[in-house]
Amino acid sequence: MPSSDANIPVKVLLVEDDEDDAVITRALLEKISVPRFEIDWAASYDAGLERMKEHHHDIGLLDYNLGSQSGIDFLREAHIDHQQTPIIMLTGQGNESLVLQALESGAIDYIPKRNISSENLQRAICHGIEKIRLQEELVAHQRQLERTNNELKQRTDEIQRFYHLLAHELKTPLTAASEFVNILLEGIPGSLNPEQTDYLHLIRGCCGHLDRNINDLYEITRLETGKLSLNQQPENLTPLVADVLHYLAPKAQAKNITLNTYLSPNLPPVMMDVQRIRQVLLNLVGNALKFTEKAGTVFVVAGEDPLCPGRVRVAIQDTGKGIPQSQLAGIFERLYQVEKDPSAASPGLGLGLFICRELVKLHEGTMSVTSTLGQGSTFSFTLRCAG
Ligand code: ADP
Repeated sequence: MPSSDANIPVKVLLVEDDEDDAVITRALLEKISVPRFEIDWAASYDAGLERMKEHHHDIGLLDYNLGSQSGIDFLREAHIDHQQTPIIMLTGQGNESLVLQALESGAIDYIPKRNISSENLQRAICHGIEKIRLQEELVAHQRQLERTNNELKQRTDEIQRFYHLLAHELKTPLTAASEFVNILLEGIPGSLNPEQTDYLHLIRGCCGHLDRNINDLYEITRLETGKLSLNQQPENLTPLVADVLHYLAPKAQAKNITLNTYLSPNLPPVMMDVQRIRQVLLNLVGNALKFTEKAGTVFVVAGEDPLCPGRVRVAIQDTGKGIPQSQLAGIFERLYQVEKDPSAASPGLGLGLFICRELVKLHEGTMSVTSTLGQGSTFSFTLRCAG
């Protein structure tokens, strides 16, 4: 590529087998003062290809008619040979229809010989060189992007491995600690006084909390490494919802929260992995109970989605504290937690909703939330009807 220094000439390879035309083109180029051109004339197809291999030209001017061969043949051969010099085709009378073919074969521009002038040559050459410079810049940027992307992938893999190792290393001693607490609570080594029992219950609660966080870490590595596969079958939601509500009933009772369902009587079976949708429901209903004040209500509603035929929508509505509008957009992102959340008695890692959304996505469903601060939130997701 020529330097931006106007004193350094632009090196032009002129491939032209007609001497008169070569003389005219040279004369037109020599009339131009900025940039200056240094012209290297190749008088035949083969001589042109040979010179091109020397790689020291900034641009080529290529006649279309080169004896028994054409400029298109030249372009193809140069291309096969990985010649990178940008080429402008000079087309003669009646060759205009071949312009498209020339451009497709790698020419960066063309000038009909009948229009050839110093101005046209100067403009086409400068544009051509600039175009190639931009292309090279683009390729360099793309390579840089690819490198950055690979580095990011590598970092992500490292983080995944770290999550997995961390989860494993924490889980084993935690399970043992929970077991010892249970042994103490069962009074196997000896009886406990009420204060000791209270403390052990607190320790068990903390172990449970840690265990949930570790499970989230496990889930996230499995999701993100594509190791989580579903076992989807046509299933009924009604018994599953009843089971989840039964499991969470003590939590609702402890806060005097009304926990109820409204399931459409004609609820069709859906395609789901029961254990995974159970996990989603436990998380969403669990959150609803966690963020709803005493004596509030939490409802699980399900029915065919009127806006989306062939889908069932499950909604978990609460009368809790709600989520600020400004935070709703990020709520399903991994590690996201609503800012300054003093009511979060046992905060998680901010992975719960992310995991739920990913599980629903694996079911080809969607997940959404609406919320009004101080009035409550509704988290909902869709599942495909079976059959
Ligand atoms: P974590 O796994 O830490 O519990 P989640 O991803 O489940 O996090 O939830 C992220 C945040 O979204 C919570 O910290 C909470 O602030 C907010 N949130 C989730 N569900 C509700 C809800 N029903 N009402 C109000 N806030 C909620």
